[in-house]
Amino acid sequence: MPNAQPPASHFIDGRYVEDTAGAPIDCTYAATGEVIARLHAATPAIVEQALASATRAKAEWAAMTGTQRGRILRRAADILRERNHDLSVLETLDTGKPYSETSVADATSGADALEYFGGLAGSLTGEHIQLGDDWVYTIREPLGLCVGIGAWNYPTQIACWKGAPALACGNTMVFKPSETTPLSALKVAEILTEAGAPSGVYNVVQGMGDVGAALVSDPRVAKVSLTGSVPTGRKIYAAAAADMKHVTMELGGKSPLVIFADADIEDAVSGAILGNFYSTGQVCSNGTRVFVERTIREAFVARLVERLKGVVMGDPLDPATTYGPMVSERQLKIVEGFIAKGIEEGATLAHGGKRVDRPGFFLEPTVFTAVTDSMTIATDEIFGPVLSVLDFDTEDEVLARANDTPFGLAAGVFTKDLARAHRMVKGFEAGTCYINSYNLAPVEAPFGGMKLSGVGRENSKLAINHYSQMKSVYVGMGPVEAPF
Ligand code: NAD
Repeated sequence: MPNAQPPASHFIDGRYVEDTAGAPIDCTYAATGEVIARLHAATPAIVEQALASATRAKAEWAAMTGTQRGRILRRAADILRERNHDLSVLETLDTGKPYSETSVADATSGADALEYFGGLAGSLTGEHIQLGDDWVYTIREPLGLCVGIGAWNYPTQIACWKGAPALACGNTMVFKPSETTPLSALKVAEILTEAGAPSGVYNVVQGMGDVGAALVSDPRVAKVSLTGSVPTGRKIYAAAAADMKHVTMELGGKSPLVIFADADIEDAVSGAILGNFYSTGQVCSNGTRVFVERTIREAFVARLVERLKGVVMGDPLDPATTYGPMVSERQLKIVEGFIAKGIEEGATLAHGGKRVDRPGFFLEPTVFTAVTDSMTIATDEIFGPVLSVLDFDTEDEVLARANDTPFGLAAGVFTKDLARAHRMVKGFEAGTCYINSYNLAPVEAPFGGMKLSGVGRENSKLAINHYSQMKSVYVGMGPVEAPF
């Protein structure tokens, strides 16, 4: 049995901290169902320690130059890359995702964020605005103490996507990973400290929703960034409103992927696979409503099913494995419930649909055809390996149907007609769009949702505006005129 027990549950003020009075959090390896680590949720005393530490650290961190802060972030990026193998094994143990994915998509994308925002840190500025003889200058200031709250699908990446821009701008952070995947964020905190981040700049506390809620409602906190579901987002946004805290909300989706008859079918099938089965379908931006032009639907489904037979399901630590288990028994049961609903509501099960007879939480990659817009599998976020094929005939029709959802995280189109591709993208009500590609999220590009899928953007230069605020300074150069 692999042992992934960290030195302690929390990382506060530059060191590991334990309080066994907190409720136990068992960390289960999804490929076997074995408990590989036991941690404890933060008690109120631990939450207080973390908030006090991050509050204390604010002044020293903000007083450093951006270049100094950036150097530390870039050093942390280098360490993440040097230790990619060990960190990827840990991420696989934490999430169940296969090593073939974690070794290229988790610590590496966390490192990208630390490197990118580390590089930007030295060039963050305000501006000078001349107004005749008078002038205005703006000072870019950190927000202060930021709270990050993570989902369980990309624990290392989420810890870095929130931490890197926050720290680059001179903020400090208390990060709470998902209780389902508590291990990797501790490593991020440890590595940032090793890279030179002063104690208290980046802290990690464990816990369930109540710990998150305690962090969000604390008046010392200036900003909350959540990656999670819409219901949790609503609660956190409401709690943050009490003190007018800044928020970033990276929430769920039910994204459309539109495939026109003139598309390269092999590429479109690849896009549908990336947008539905990578990370066993546990990706927020997945294109789970696959609209296929009626004339090519049969050919598309036949090729998709054939390619899915090539899935290598097995031990996620074996580099040859390409498809792992779901993160937990609970998530597996939720997805099984959606599959049953799909069958009950009359969709055709074209592939998969069953739990795999082996230890762990393995579920076959699943494809439904003859799905209609109102079926539950076409309206609700499933967050698992379930692809729905919907037929369409015209561009106007498919765009209207693609947008007929309260979510707006992502959308994709496959076609060789470039004018049509850009028309579709202009019409999509989604924050992240793809033309002849799907589910790539480079740190250089803004990432985030419209409508219920979120508020604010992560990554890219835009994230800087979500982790800093402008002070505007009017400088009078002449006599002061007053009306009386
Ligand atoms: P979740 O909403 O159940 O939990 C997210 C986090 O919020 C967890 O750490 C949880 O402990 C915490 N939390 C729960 N209640 C809270 C409260 N009242 N106050 C403060 N914190 C609270 O989500 P999940 O099941 O962990 O993750 C799956 C969801 O995340 C899906 O909806 C998925 O689409 C979404 N997601 C979005 C993105 C994105 O970037 N848009 C990325 C990954 C996942």
